[in-house]
Amino acid sequence: MTVEKFDPQQTTTLRVAKEEISKHHNADAPVLTGTEAKIGFVSLGCPKNLVDSERILTQLRTEGYDVVSTYHDSDLVIVNTCGFIDSAVQESLDTIGEALKENGKVIVTGCLGVKEDEIREVHPNVLAITGPHAYETVVEQVHDHLPKPQHNPFQQLIPDHGVKLTPRHYAYLKISEGCNHRCTFCIIPSMRGDLDSRPIGDVLDEAKRLKDAGVQELLVISQDTSAYGVDVKHQTGFWDGMPVKTNMVALCEKLGEMGIWVRLHYVYPYPSVDKVIPLMAEGKILPYLDIPLQHASPRILKLMKRPAAAERTLERIKAWREICPELIIRSTFIVGFPGETEEDFQTLLDFLEEAQLDRVGCFKYSDVEGATANDLPDPVSEEEKQSRFERFMEVQARISAQKLQDKIGLEYQVLIDEVTTEGAVGRCYADAPEIDGKVYLTDEFDVAPGDKIWAQIVHADEHDMWAVKVDDEDDEGEDNAEATM
Ligand code: SF4
Repeated sequence: MTVEKFDPQQTTTLRVAKEEISKHHNADAPVLTGTEAKIGFVSLGCPKNLVDSERILTQLRTEGYDVVSTYHDSDLVIVNTCGFIDSAVQESLDTIGEALKENGKVIVTGCLGVKEDEIREVHPNVLAITGPHAYETVVEQVHDHLPKPQHNPFQQLIPDHGVKLTPRHYAYLKISEGCNHRCTFCIIPSMRGDLDSRPIGDVLDEAKRLKDAGVQELLVISQDTSAYGVDVKHQTGFWDGMPVKTNMVALCEKLGEMGIWVRLHYVYPYPSVDKVIPLMAEGKILPYLDIPLQHASPRILKLMKRPAAAERTLERIKAWREICPELIIRSTFIVGFPGETEEDFQTLLDFLEEAQLDRVGCFKYSDVEGATANDLPDPVSEEEKQSRFERFMEVQARISAQKLQDKIGLEYQVLIDEVTTEGAVGRCYADAPEIDGKVYLTDEFDVAPGDKIWAQIVHADEHDMWAVKVDDEDDEGEDNAEATM
């Protein structure tokens, strides 16, 4: 998990929950009304929280509850909160307050739920509170305040893959809960507990159901994807009648056989990651790694207690690129961590120049209530943090812009996300949804969300690219397919 993963724009509002459910169900489903049990749902925070929301909504829909899009229409509102950084806590508290004011019956769940006292101090009237991934308890709390509908009009309408809150063509695949690390700036382990890997058979079953439902891209998420299976000693599970080890490499091999895009998020540069790079070079999974490095100075990494702090990251990245030259690396960094000297910061800038990462997010350090880093000496002044942030962004903006310029003239497969009045908008393998750039196909209307087409890049700025569609049969494109997915 990285600080970047809290983005208020990713908030799934009441309206979004209803709309996404309607999209997934509308295709063949008759419009049904009449149930007396209507739920409003607001999901805040990161994709992991969104997956929790999907599970709760799936269960409620299975039991016959309707999901509605306004506070006024709801009999009860569930707020799935985020508590990662202070602004996330505030947004969660504000949202609970809004739901109480507009509706009055509110159940709270999610990361902030572990701080029940803090919530009750501000909002004493919430009906019930739970922490993250407490799906069954939330559903029981709903039963207590809004009895299950007798007649279930939705029984036939729940798709095999359950309720999804992302567009039809991509989905988050959560492989584990919790985290065994104790990064000093992070309170996730205190909210979500230690690593708890899902059985590999369950993960692969879910992936297959999503693929069968039309999903074109799976985004593998967890707090530390490279640690998958450590808690169960990488025990052998079963899928499709065959033994499969509970580890990241085996998971990637199996997902790679499904014939859809597979993108890895929150991976740490451990030696075990070396084994997934050949799968990327062979085109089995996308050559894309989201590695939240957070810093490059060994001293600061130690103060942060970062996983893989002792790894030789630059050497590792170079070796990966030799095996898979098209590998895209996204990362996030924190500047102004307590004790960060000008020398540490320069080490970070030097690292950026040398590592030539493709996509980078940067955050100014701020205290998070309950984090041990709050007690570290030598805080960096706000003025200095801002100055370092600007210097960091200047260096990385130049690198990112050059990386995208280098793609002009090349052909890539583009997954279409939407078609607007100006044309189609999609992404190539280098871009994860929500966090990376987009590929704009101006005046291209003959496509639909979920289509994969070949396109040639004709223009780029430091974040996005513009492209024109090319013929699928084009030989050059076919050759490029090997290298660029
Ligand atoms: S403790 Fe570290 S690795 Fe674990 S979730 Fe927090 S930032 Fe991520």
